[in-house]
Amino acid sequence: MRVLAPTWLSEKKIIAMLNAKQQWITNKLKEQNALLATRPPLPVIAEDTTLTLFGKPFSISIKSGTKTQFVFNRGRLALIISTRVKPENVQAHLSKQVQLFYREQLQAQLQNRLPILADNMGLVYQKVSVKNFKAKWGSCNNRGELDFNWRLAAMPFETIDSVCIHELAHLKHLDHSRDFWALVAKYDPEYQFHKQVLRQYSTQIWF
Ligand SMILES: [Zn+2]
Repeated sequence: MRVLAPTWLSEKKIIAMLNAKQQWITNKLKEQNALLATRPPLPVIAEDTTLTLFGKPFSISIKSGTKTQFVFNRGRLALIISTRVKPENVQAHLSKQVQLFYREQLQAQLQNRLPILADNMGLVYQKVSVKNFKAKWGSCNNRGELDFNWRLAAMPFETIDSVCIHELAHLKHLDHSRDFWALVAKYDPEYQFHKQVLRQYSTQIWF
C-alpha cells in the first residue's frame, strides 16, 4: 500500500492518522481478499482444453512448428507455436492464437447476420469491428459504428443475435430509455434470457 500525504504534515502526525485508520484499512484489505478468493481460478490453455464456439464445445491440441499459427479442422483447434518462442511466453502465445481464431469466427458471423438483422429492423449502420473489450459486449456510437467483443464467438448464435439487436437499437436511441427497451423487446422478446446466458459464459472466458 502507498500513502499519499501533503509535505507539510509531520511524520508523527501521519503515523498517528494511519493508526487511527488501521482498523478501516485492515477491513478493506480483508474485503478485497475475500472478493479475489471467490473468483474462479484461471485455467491454462493446455492439450485437450475444451472451449466453446457458437455454444458448441471444441478441443485444443498444441504442436510446435516453424511458424506460430492456428488450424481449425473437424472440431479441433490446433495451436502451433513456433520453436523460437521461449517457454515462459508459450502461454501468452496460446491465448493470442485462440483470440485470433475467435476474432476471425466472430467477424464472419457478424458479416452474415448484421445485414439481415439491420434490414429487419429498418436500420442502417456504417461500420462493424471486432474489439478486445474487457468489460462490455458491444458498443454503438453516433456515427453509426458498431463494435463487438471477440469473446462473443464462444456463445450460441441466438445470444450473439441478441447483442447485435441491442447495439442496432442504439442506432435509433443512443441511451437505455423506455423507447430503447421497447425497440429491443420488439425484435428480441427473450432479451432477458439472453442476458443471463451472457453472464454464464462470461465466467468461462477468462483470457
Ligand atoms: Zn446499450
